[in-house]
Amino acid sequence: MTKIAMTTPLVEMDGDEMTRVLWKMIKDELILPFVDLKTEYYDLGLEYRDQTRDQVTIDSANATKKYGVAVKCATITPNAARMTEYNLHEMWKSPNGTIRAILDGTVFRAPILVKGVEPLVKNWKKPITIARHAYGDVYKATEMKIPGPGKTELVYTNEAGEETRELIHNFTGAGIIQGQHNVVASIENFAHCCFRYALDTKQDLWFATKDTISKKYDHTFKDIFQEIYDRDYKEAFEKAGIEYFYTLIDDAVARVIRSEGGYIWACKNYDGDVMSDMVATAFGSLAMMTSVLVSPNGCYEYEAAHGTVQRHYYQYKEGKKTSTNPVATIFAWSGAFRKRGEMDGLEKLCDYADKLEQATIDTIESGIMTKDLSAITTLSNAQTVTSEEFLSAIRSRLEALLA
Ligand code: NAD
Repeated sequence: MTKIAMTTPLVEMDGDEMTRVLWKMIKDELILPFVDLKTEYYDLGLEYRDQTRDQVTIDSANATKKYGVAVKCATITPNAARMTEYNLHEMWKSPNGTIRAILDGTVFRAPILVKGVEPLVKNWKKPITIARHAYGDVYKATEMKIPGPGKTELVYTNEAGEETRELIHNFTGAGIIQGQHNVVASIENFAHCCFRYALDTKQDLWFATKDTISKKYDHTFKDIFQEIYDRDYKEAFEKAGIEYFYTLIDDAVARVIRSEGGYIWACKNYDGDVMSDMVATAFGSLAMMTSVLVSPNGCYEYEAAHGTVQRHYYQYKEGKKTSTNPVATIFAWSGAFRKRGEMDGLEKLCDYADKLEQATIDTIESGIMTKDLSAITTLSNAQTVTSEEFLSAIRSRLEALLA
């Protein structure tokens, strides 16, 4: 069989622990036999990040800007324990945070649905993709404890030194206050990423805030989304047969639970933090969540939403075979191949991406799955296998689909 050709390299960001082990298995078993793989390789494993004083993370993000599509393995975000374990020079920042800061993007998280792993919300039939605004609000807030009676105010001083004041509260006893902010440019970027991703994936876009209560702060989010939609995306949405829908956050929550899924739910920072965990849990498994960072100028970085599965890695190092779920990492690769194929006009590469996903889903639906899924499946014929056995079962199906 001739291998499927690529023209532009993918930016490949290798990672840590069990997911690094899976990364190689996936390449050897499901990619290299079928694709004439072109990647520009960056080793984001913690040892090499430390050796390069984290320069490799910055380089990999810049390469993503250059080529447009990256695929990333899960990586360790160091804490005190990792400082000792890896004898680090510094407690390096989260690679995802560094990459997001350079690409200035929005993260879209979506579950992979298979028969046999049923959502806890019984009417959810299609994935719900959460887009979380990753800047500002309570995450960049300044807070103060008010010890006793007194006046608190918001003060804005412009460059000419003129002040504008708003009373927060006249305290008659002790209390607390908090100052939050956001910036128009960041909200605009968030809106563009969401509208683009909706068009890309042909899904409706929902957005919700509490603008009835927060008449300036949340209302600004609502207004920016509406202006950008009307000016830049309305026509394209109508042509694509998809919808932009704004509602209040409490109404959105009620509708999400009653819906059958199949849309993107754009959330302010805090709502996204809370709702993405709720949606992930209700869909069944963290190991079945994919994640893609989309930058406002059209760069894409695909990854699994889970971490490095540390506990399994220690078992693996003791020579044990683990049953770690590689599905989200496989879908990170297929997502990246599909996007690369679309950008470069390579139909066969897109077709390979579709078939890789199909083979993975078929394998699980036939009853062959890793331990995390067999523990929750409704299939009666479920068979728990190791990661290697699971990948090999996918490979047989992929070979048949591509033949
Ligand atoms: P984790 O996602 O690795 O594990 C959380 C729990 O889910 C564990 O019980 C684990 O066994 C289970 N789990 C997750 N993925 C699984 C899979 N594919 N198959 C089977 N079970 C799976 O998160 P953690 O334990 O909090 O963190 C471990 C390391 O991962 C940390 O060093 C952290 O910094 C890093 N991390 C990285 C990313 C990323 O790179 N995107 C995200 C989260 C955590």
